[in-house]
Amino acid sequence: MSTHQEKLKKSISIIRKLISLYQELLNRMNSKSIPVVCHHSGTSQTRTTLEAINNNHKWRGYPKSQLGYYIAYNFVIINGVVTKTRKLTEKGQATSTFKKFHWDIMVVGSFDIDEVSQENRDALEKLLMNLRLNHSMGSFLPHNQYYNTICCGENLIKELDKLRMTNNIL
Ligand SMILES: [Zn+2]
Repeated sequence: MSTHQEKLKKSISIIRKLISLYQELLNRMNSKSIPVVCHHSGTSQTRTTLEAINNNHKWRGYPKSQLGYYIAYNFVIINGVVTKTRKLTEKGQATSTFKKFHWDIMVVGSFDIDEVSQENRDALEKLLMNLRLNHSMGSFLPHNQYYNTICCGENLIKELDKLRMTNNIL
């Protein structure tokens, strides 16, 4: 084979690889099955700030998100307010035992003790509806389905079960 043919063959193989990567990305963006993992903070439901979580996660070494936060989750809910801390194209960083591309949502509170406030419940429901209807959300499970942890707390897990039933979420 001539050098020219070899070069051509190499180029074609690189182009094929790029096409398959592009298709994988498209599949990921279009797939109806991006799983969501739900967490709690294990801290006060009313007195924990976004800044405190960000500083803690920066200290713990989580990578900076494209939105400028160090917070491992894609969304944080505090007192009924949802903050997007990682883009939907970024994998959640809070469920290290779950290797598949997924999003992490965290509701501030210690739901092994606290009842989920109405405003937090409503905010979570609204966020899930949006992700399900507009962004190809798949399953929605508590952290303890992927790791031996109490996260996201018994009382929030009960709310997730209710939300799942009323909204046809997997
Ligand atoms: Zn968790």
